[in-house]
Amino acid sequence: MGACASICPFQRIEWSTFGEPKVIETACEGCGICSAVCPVSAMQLRHYKDDQLVPKIKAMLTPKWLSEEKMDEPVIIAFACQWCSYAAADAAGNMGMEYPDNIRIIRVPCSGRVDALHVLSAFKNGADGVIISAASPRSGNYLTGNLEAIDRVDIMKKTLDVLGIGSERLETIFTSACMPTWLITMFNDFTERIKKLNESSRPKLEAIPMD
Ligand code: SF4
Repeated sequence: MGACASICPFQRIEWSTFGEPKVIETACEGCGICSAVCPVSAMQLRHYKDDQLVPKIKAMLTPKWLSEEKMDEPVIIAFACQWCSYAAADAAGNMGMEYPDNIRIIRVPCSGRVDALHVLSAFKNGADGVIISAASPRSGNYLTGNLEAIDRVDIMKKTLDVLGIGSERLETIFTSACMPTWLITMFNDFTERIKKLNESSRPKLEAIPMD
């Protein structure tokens, strides 16, 4: 108990007189890192609750939103930190740059908000690959949020290997709002990687132990 309080980079969680964690709501920065580490999903971030993110993931994957001739192509979910990657994707759009329509971006407050439930949910609902796009180390808006994401991805990669999905189908990208070209390059490279992987096999959905 208490993972949320110990991981909050701003010390915005205190203990109630009943010995329960209590968020100081007026001072909370809204990163959602505490939600990602709660083992019983008791800690939820407003607007980015699990029961809001999971339906969003499903909606992004069903149907595949690909033209008929591209229906066999991979679909990739990209969780994008709103301050760096999402802003970089926005900048890319404003500059008239394009990225593959295989990529589906889901905005999150911080890459540290993404946990195994979201990644497995993406694969379970038909994603061929998942990107967690974070701020570069030491430049995260939420101090340690991106570092938490890196550690979590390492563990999730091991889980994906055990499940037979393959760790190479999950990747972390580091970027900032002023790096739209880099972001697009990374999106293109990852899409090509997943296309190659799909030539030999696709993720086995039945291997994922969830609804
Ligand atoms: S959302 Fe972020 S700032 Fe707010 S309590 Fe959780 S970890 Fe702390």
